[in-house]
Amino acid sequence: MGLLGATGAVGQHFVRLLAGHPWFRLTWLAASERSSGRRYGDLPWRLPVALADEIAALPVHAPGAGNAPELVFSALDASVAWECEAELAARGHWVVSNARSHRMDPCVPLLVPEVNPGHLALVERQEEERGWRGALVTNPNCSTVFLSMALAALRRFSPRRVMVTTLQALSGAGYPGVASVDAAANVIPYIEGEEEKLERETQKILGSVDAGSVEPHPVAISAQATRVPVLDGHTEAVSVEFAQPVGREEMRAAFAEFRGEPQALALPNAPAKPIVLHEREDRPQPRIDVEAYGGMAVHVGRLRPCPVLGWKFVLLGHNMVRGAAGGALLNAELLVARGMVASAGNFRAGLTA
Ligand code: NAP
Repeated sequence: MGLLGATGAVGQHFVRLLAGHPWFRLTWLAASERSSGRRYGDLPWRLPVALADEIAALPVHAPGAGNAPELVFSALDASVAWECEAELAARGHWVVSNARSHRMDPCVPLLVPEVNPGHLALVERQEEERGWRGALVTNPNCSTVFLSMALAALRRFSPRRVMVTTLQALSGAGYPGVASVDAAANVIPYIEGEEEKLERETQKILGSVDAGSVEPHPVAISAQATRVPVLDGHTEAVSVEFAQPVGREEMRAAFAEFRGEPQALALPNAPAKPIVLHEREDRPQPRIDVEAYGGMAVHVGRLRPCPVLGWKFVLLGHNMVRGAAGGALLNAELLVARGMVASAGNFRAGLTA
């Protein structure tokens, strides 16, 4: 399979997570003109794990190069993802993207496999309405993944209004990201577009599919996003009002018992427990908890009554793993397990398209 944006912060996490993957083998890399034409191993590698020789030896292509494999992950900058991903889908590729460009397209699934696997039905519209021979599937904004998983676990109590304040890690801004003099010992109370994404993407993810369209969930969400001097891991302080009365033990059980299709199918990157409930008052913390369970679980702690909306809690998730590369990988595993990618048999046999 291939990877667009292979040289970026998310792209490097894809390379790390794909090493030794039981179904997928990385054979094709692409990035901007600054990197294309060079050997991947000659470009800066910023993760604290060794880069495999076979990946280091791969050439970096331009995104439009005609020889991409059937399944392509995208960690492209959103400015180029719009055109490039649609072109690849039109030409017959399956594009599994992290970029925001197509997330709110009514024909494109915005997928969190534990929450809304039924949204994959939207893919049929891509051929019918766009004439694409392939397809495009997106994963949400990183903070949105964690919020939507927590609200999905509580869906049966009918969440009505949500207030969320995020404390987002520096790695979420890509590389080189926020200037060090701005980031050090500071809190920046603005991340462009982030609050709107949390509010709108969550409603789409929790929405129901009817006759090939997503009816957004009516939950009202008010988000405030901040950037804090944490390396990896977005924390979110959440307050929720439910339409149904709910007690602490019911909520604890709902978080602890939450499972989805990835767990039922035992997908390679599915965490056994998608939501990990913390009992200690001082957890979860990014530095201690974010790498647990391969970075694929969402951590919930500090569950307690909220005098304004009813209940409040703290969320933590790994923005580069569950919120980006790992989430996309789980999406692709679901596509293969459902037999949607034509060459699934080859992937499963360890071959590449
Ligand atoms: P990044 O570090 O800035 O990397 C961007 C990648 O896009 C690089 O590989 C870059 O290639 C490539 N690129 C930039 N301009 C290009 C062009 N004109 N043509 C082709 N390739 C181009 O960003 P990132 O943090 O990895 O984010 C990648 C995507 O994932 C973004 O859409 C972002 O919104 C999304 N995302 C990020 C996070 C996160 O926590 N960081 C979470 C969820 C989603 P060069 O190295 O050659 O410039």
